[in-house]
Amino acid sequence: MFKTTKGLVLREVRYKEADRILTVLTQDEGKITAKARGALRKSSRTAAATQQLTWAEMTLFGNRGKWTVNEASVLEGFQGLREDIASFALGSYFAECLEAFAVEDQPDPELLQLGLNSLYAVSQRLYPAEKVKAAFELRLAVLSGYSPALDACAFCGKEQPEDPILGLDTGGVCCRACRKAEFGNAARLDAESLEAMRYIVSAPAKRLFSFRLGEESGKLLAMAAEKYLQSQAGRSFGTLSYYKQF
Ligand SMILES: [Zn+2]
Repeated sequence: MFKTTKGLVLREVRYKEADRILTVLTQDEGKITAKARGALRKSSRTAAATQQLTWAEMTLFGNRGKWTVNEASVLEGFQGLREDIASFALGSYFAECLEAFAVEDQPDPELLQLGLNSLYAVSQRLYPAEKVKAAFELRLAVLSGYSPALDACAFCGKEQPEDPILGLDTGGVCCRACRKAEFGNAARLDAESLEAMRYIVSAPAKRLFSFRLGEESGKLLAMAAEKYLQSQAGRSFGTLSYYKQF
């Protein structure tokens, strides 16, 4: 069965002489694994479009749940990521996160859009990388069903918690003074970074990065979003350690 769809290449692994095994987040089939035969040969017509962090139109051949890439052409190569090692490392981290949270064979347009918009924003340097990273992490958690409850202090009910902290396991927020043992691990916030988190949770996809934040609050947001996603994923990400070297 042939199928034409669009897909974002999250990962490519060399296989045998010149093949690539790809993990692709596709529009119609969700996350799939596909083999691209001969993609590493110089003469290959699929070479460019089967590289990691490429958005491509692909014609796939499916047989008993196994996919092969027959044809592929680049729709967006995110060139800006390839010209800067730190940007590419951040893009690879996004890809690893998407792979971790995406469900096999289940299309998720919002997840795909988040991935594409975030890669585009970093590639084109539309916003500071740390801002895109934090918004990506928090929104990915939300889309994956781990939305934090940020409306009010979990204990006293104040809508503007004093010296707010975010529960990394519980996904709640509370005043520092209200904190109880069952709140578990937490990350420090301030009023401004809490407001930014509230924005990111519910902003329209196209305006996800359009929030303002001072430098100190930005750091708190970055730390909280990163820790929160890791806590919800229940794992760490190798590509994140790599990105941090830059
Ligand atoms: Zn409180």
